[in-house]
Amino acid sequence: MHIDIVSVFPEYFDVLKLSLLGKAQQRGLLTVTAHNLRDWTHDVHHSVDDTPVGGGAGMVMKPEIWAQCLDDIMGLEPADFSADGEPVLSRDFHLVPATGAQSPAVAPDGQPTDATDTHGRPILIFPNPSAPLFTQADATDLSHAERLVFGCGRYEGIDARVPEYYARQGVEVREYSIGDYVLNGGEVAVSAMIEAIVRLIPGFMGNPESIVEESYTGDPLLEHRQFTRPTAWRGLAVSDVLTSGDHGRVDRFRRDEALERTSRIRPDLIERLDCKELSKNDRKT
Ligand code: SAM
Repeated sequence: MHIDIVSVFPEYFDVLKLSLLGKAQQRGLLTVTAHNLRDWTHDVHHSVDDTPVGGGAGMVMKPEIWAQCLDDIMGLEPADFSADGEPVLSRDFHLVPATGAQSPAVAPDGQPTDATDTHGRPILIFPNPSAPLFTQADATDLSHAERLVFGCGRYEGIDARVPEYYARQGVEVREYSIGDYVLNGGEVAVSAMIEAIVRLIPGFMGNPESIVEESYTGDPLLEHRQFTRPTAWRGLAVSDVLTSGDHGRVDRFRRDEALERTSRIRPDLIERLDCKELSKNDRKT
């Protein structure tokens, strides 16, 4: 997989050279290039923002700088609008389904698309607090892509016509929020998405089993709690079931705990659970 990231703070992504992500790059499983958006500016101040049309606080990132940068990175020619007459009104594009990418993304022509069908064409991703939530299902879907391009917003965000323009040009564009809160910029959100995606690439984890039994994977349940030795520590002991050596009982114990924790901490996930995913014993829990 190759990942391009555009940011006004490309140094943020130096951390991707650490730990398992760094090792994956050394092993050639992944390449990451962080670009500085200001390299595409032409003025002496390298400015990338302007005041919002319609007024209001803050600044908005200029579409032209973003487009020149993204055209270069993705190898696209700027579309020619010279003979098109009046510009059409920008509209709110539904770049990904409101429920997240449990179902495939939707292309500008309304046809469903899938990250696996891109044949190396880039998928362009913008972090955005007012987009659908990024989920484990999205990470799994995007882990099959050959090329991802991330655009990190700052200030009040990127001019909304940038994602719309690329979607209209036939690029698969997605926008994701990483949670119901507002960060200063897209860098932290992009780092989180990259880490969630890349650890699912086959060969990334030393032990592939460790990504099979995790929260949100398979059944959308929270994982059971994990313990290590000693089995009794500072007055707290782990259940005898876990030390019994009876794998059937251990599995049942863990499954019950996953169901109990999910109903208590994230009842919304239990409500989304398909009844077919629950066994007879699960229903007793
Ligand atoms: N004016 C925007 C709003 O109220 O929705 C907030 C812009 S925020 C200060 C600047 C940038 O940070 C956004 O363009 C986006 O790239 C990133 N960002 C902030 N919070 C985010 C979140 N929860 N998920 C994904 N990206 C986020």
